[in-house]
Amino acid sequence: QQQLSDRINSMATSQTLAMAAKARELKAEGKDIIGLSLGEPDFNTPDFIKDAAIQAINDNYNSYTPVDGYVELKDAIITKFKRDNNLTYDRSQIVVSTGAKQSLANVAMVVLNPGDEVLLPCPYWVSYSEIVKLAEGVPVEMPTSVKSNFKITPEELEAAITPKTKMIWYSSPCNPSGMVYSREELKALAEVLRKYPDIIVVSDEIYEHINFVGDHASIAEFEHMYDRTVTVNGVSKAFAMTGWRIGYIGAPTYIARACNKMQGQITSGANCIAQRAVITALEAPVSKISHMIETFKKRRELIIDLLNNIDGFITPEPEGAFYVFPNVSSFFGKTFKGHTIKDADDFSMFLLEEANVATVTGAAFGNPDCIRISYAASEDQITEALKRIKDILK
Ligand code: PLP
Repeated sequence: QQQLSDRINSMATSQTLAMAAKARELKAEGKDIIGLSLGEPDFNTPDFIKDAAIQAINDNYNSYTPVDGYVELKDAIITKFKRDNNLTYDRSQIVVSTGAKQSLANVAMVVLNPGDEVLLPCPYWVSYSEIVKLAEGVPVEMPTSVKSNFKITPEELEAAITPKTKMIWYSSPCNPSGMVYSREELKALAEVLRKYPDIIVVSDEIYEHINFVGDHASIAEFEHMYDRTVTVNGVSKAFAMTGWRIGYIGAPTYIARACNKMQGQITSGANCIAQRAVITALEAPVSKISHMIETFKKRRELIIDLLNNIDGFITPEPEGAFYVFPNVSSFFGKTFKGHTIKDADDFSMFLLEEANVATVTGAAFGNPDCIRISYAASEDQITEALKRIKDILK
């Protein structure tokens, strides 16, 4: 008899990871699968960062670190926040964690009481709702559409707020839509929040540097938002360091100290070698990673071009991150080899089985009319994948 908790039994499996596992399975059976499902840069971690890690090993960094991160790393984060975001934090406001995923989980665990509502503008990153539920919060999805470029308006925000609203979580640049909130758009949302000073904002800025439209804006820049915003960031995406598992927050001191307490009982802090390497990564000028951003930019143009050549896809142009999020509802109700495609789950599975291309259903992100295609893949792979998709849809 299996004796698992209600907590784990009611949790959904990460659909992005599940799709990657299914694609791996088919690959092992000998199928030539092109994986466009994972949110992972296909670059190597830059050499200057790898060298710093090797140096740290040779310098015998092997003990437990301070729970919330090495002081030198916190200082590098403080300098980065000032340099890139014009945000001023002190050491008591910074917590380094095992990936931004743990940063988010910490925040949910220390802020939410059972029944507290968390607004999630759709589409949102796959783990937000499960993390919120794990912390006994209630995810409240806020639908958006292609028409509004998948962004919420101030009016929609106002309408979604209830006396139980404790937080709002969003990412900009957004995974999965690729949309970026401009400073003006954030200012308008912040104006609504001015009336609700108790609502905490989680601003996930992990794709900050992968931005094709210019200025990155942080909502904590606005004075009345600073004291109740948790700014989340990490090195996984822009520095091609997904497996190193380092994320961090800048937050009001009381939230940061609570995250430190939580983490002190759960992980004792992030990996020491990775932390040393991230000091070097964050101290480097952004120009050291611009070759990767430039490559993503070219691939974005390529994939949009190819998608616009396939009838039935409606694809808003992403402004950042490395995903496109086309609406594919025009294919719902169509039949292939006796199977009817009812929704984005079926469509994504159809692409995997019939075109051998792995994508992720938009349902995983709260938008069941879309699929997410990652273009963190080579131009050849993107071209071949889109050719296969076009051919099969004919
Ligand atoms: N936030 C967003 C929006 C993401 O897309 C991801 C990774 O896919 C994360 C957070 C988690 O990143 P990390 O690898 O630092 O845990």
